[in-house]
Amino acid sequence: MDLFFIPPRICWWRVLFLLSIFQDYLSNMLDCPPTCSCSPTEIYCNKSDNGKFFPLLALQDTGNNGNNSIEDLFKNITSIHIENWTGLQTLKDVDMELYTGLQRLTIMNGNLRGIQARAFSQNPHLRYINLSKNPLTTLSWQLFQNLQLFELRLEEVVFECGCDIRWIQLWQQRGEAGLHTQLLFCNNGASKIPLQAMNISLCDLPDISVTHYNLTVIEGDRVTVTCNGSGSPLPEVDWTVNDLHSINTHQSNVYWPNVHSINLTLVNVSRDDNFYMLTCIAENKVGMANASIQLTVHFPPTILKLDEPERRHETCIEFTVRGNPQPTLRWFHRDKEIPPSDYIRTEMDTYQDYLEGCLNFKDPTHHNNGNYTLEASNFLGVTTKTVYGHFLNAPFSDGTPTPTITVTHRPEEDTFGVSIAVGLAGFACVLLVVLFVLINKYGRRSKFGMKGPVAVISGEEDSASPLHHVNHGIITPCTLDAGPDAVVIGMTRIPVIENPQYFRHGHNCNKPATYVQHIKRRDIILKRELGEGAFGKVFLAECYNLSPTKDKMLVAVKTLKDPTLVFSQTLKDPTLAARKDFQREAELLTNLQHEHIVKFYGVCVDGDPLIMVFEYMKHGDLNKFLRAHGPDAMILVDGQPLQTNGELGLSQMLHIATQIAAGMMYLASQHFVHRDLATRNCLVGNGLLVKIGDFGMSRDIYSTDYYRVGGHTMLPIRWMPPESIMYRKFTTESDVWSFGVILWEIFTYGKQPWFQLANNEVIECITQGRVLERPRVCPKEVYDIMLGCWQREPQQRLNIKDIQKILYALGKATPVYLDILG
Ligand code: AMP
Repeated sequence: MDLFFIPPRICWWRVLFLLSIFQDYLSNMLDCPPTCSCSPTEIYCNKSDNGKFFPLLALQDTGNNGNNSIEDLFKNITSIHIENWTGLQTLKDVDMELYTGLQRLTIMNGNLRGIQARAFSQNPHLRYINLSKNPLTTLSWQLFQNLQLFELRLEEVVFECGCDIRWIQLWQQRGEAGLHTQLLFCNNGASKIPLQAMNISLCDLPDISVTHYNLTVIEGDRVTVTCNGSGSPLPEVDWTVNDLHSINTHQSNVYWPNVHSINLTLVNVSRDDNFYMLTCIAENKVGMANASIQLTVHFPPTILKLDEPERRHETCIEFTVRGNPQPTLRWFHRDKEIPPSDYIRTEMDTYQDYLEGCLNFKDPTHHNNGNYTLEASNFLGVTTKTVYGHFLNAPFSDGTPTPTITVTHRPEEDTFGVSIAVGLAGFACVLLVVLFVLINKYGRRSKFGMKGPVAVISGEEDSASPLHHVNHGIITPCTLDAGPDAVVIGMTRIPVIENPQYFRHGHNCNKPATYVQHIKRRDIILKRELGEGAFGKVFLAECYNLSPTKDKMLVAVKTLKDPTLVFSQTLKDPTLAARKDFQREAELLTNLQHEHIVKFYGVCVDGDPLIMVFEYMKHGDLNKFLRAHGPDAMILVDGQPLQTNGELGLSQMLHIATQIAAGMMYLASQHFVHRDLATRNCLVGNGLLVKIGDFGMSRDIYSTDYYRVGGHTMLPIRWMPPESIMYRKFTTESDVWSFGVILWEIFTYGKQPWFQLANNEVIECITQGRVLERPRVCPKEVYDIMLGCWQREPQQRLNIKDIQKILYALGKATPVYLDILG
């Protein structure tokens, strides 16, 4: 294909027009001008050429359908070098406008006499310009005003001395664009003088001043600002008002002998001009000066966005508010202002006059559902907007009636009880009463007895006792292979799966041959009270004749209040039955022997009260111990806080957890489901020895009503997995869940799980799949274990053996220092 050269006077649109006509056979390839050599990025023309035109790449038909547009091909040229082109006298806008990616331009040793004012306006990337050895007589700084020139070479250009080139002299003095490294001359009438020697009067940079530097106005106001440019030559002065939103802006010029003033009036100032910089520019031949006014627009707040939280997933009501000065935000819920707290708080960022953020809820429940009103105010006004926040459905809102739940709380943490009573349908009431009668008649027992933070679910409840099972609604005595049973909580019938170990061992119906040690009352000397549990006081005592090696030893004795209140009441002789239950419980405890299960020495049944004797664990229960060794712990001396007890470190926490896991491994190996694993039921001895120390919840396997208090069953719901809460299903896996909660207790120094929630909210959270947050001091590896314990599917939970191994390994990696303990 032949090459052809397009002189620039042919309008480019004609080229495009031609191109569109012949596009079937013209491909968009460009070719190099005849006397030049070209690469995709450079045009190099150093042969003498008398052509008058700037080299322009020409179209070429190669039959190759390239993907590049013509604009792109020109844009790829970054360097043009023209030397010895005597025909090129004027550099025009059109010569340069297609080379929009140009960075280096050399036109030297030619016949260039003038450059059009906007020649470089389309070449913003130009960094190097060499115009040396051309007969230019003048040059304007304005050609380069939008460029960031590294170098402007003007060697052997002899300008006419005068104000027009004073700027070059100034740039040389300032060392700009490499001009200071060049020896430049100007023609001063007859002689050629160094440019630095040129002395021109009344030729200087303009001065500029504005009437304000910061201007604060109220939206809608009218305001006038003035800019004064002065100097010789008298400058042109102008306000730049691009993208200004305020309407009816107009400028008026006033000329004084040495000052050029210009007023700018903004009518109906817009909030969109807040932060706008009104810039005034004064220009003359020598250069330019500018000055700016920062505009501040005050306007009343508006709520641009208030989003309903996305159901279930979001715990935040998103908002965007705009206003200046920055509005004050207040939130209202149920006609009351929401005070800032750890549970509901506003988090926001400011961007200019925008406030963007969230009203954040920590673990919201259905109690948080409702309308939320945001009020934004500043001195110019107040605005409000309301959104409905839906976080969780009320528990049992799937159509099943809500159970009646009464709540008891650990007094220091939850000072209020919550009682929800949902109206019972007459039919359900009748059913309930019938069930009550049946269950009481056949001696059904409550299985849970609790101290500490537990929920009490009233109404009839619970699984069948080992002696009597409610089997598919039919009560059968001592059914060893009993399948899932049913209990009624409020009006909800809930299936119950039995404690497996009871059936495997066949306790209860077939009495195991276990010898329970009997201790004589006279051998027990009470010393002081250690605490009080669900079924009586616990004392520190000296016990004689217990150990073959020691005359006496310290023990913890548990006294039973009134056994007939806690043991089998339903038999003809409650006292006798209670004693039998007590005996069976003692047998169970005698059979459980492990280094991390508190040692059971025996019973004292000669007279009242009944007593159980355990090994004494010096530091008491683990929950108290954790609190005493937490960051907030203080020892009181004479009622005055004096010193901390020594905070538990990571290695100690791991050591504690590993021991409990070891105890649990043993229980699991015995097919014993504990049902009430919590730090309050573990005990701490010397040298940070920890043992599982209370088997209250498991006692139902001895068919007692032991934990039944006033017709209530007490459940440790904060430690229970969803299936235990919903179906009363207790398994080794549900114990693993509780162990996860124990870990959480350990790493929070004994905090109550979900302490911020009422019990019915806890039930809702757990059953809906929420889990406790990672405690502040808890390493990720440990939280991963917790999460492994809190898998919703019991089968997917970690098993206690693996947990024990991981904890042991983590503990080994972190040496244990037990020096805080006596
Ligand atoms: P309990 O009846 O098991 O709930 O015990 C009530 C309180 O008595 C516990 O919180 C402990 O502080 C204390 N206690 C129970 N058993 C022992 C023991 N074996 N050694 C030391 N203190 C104990």
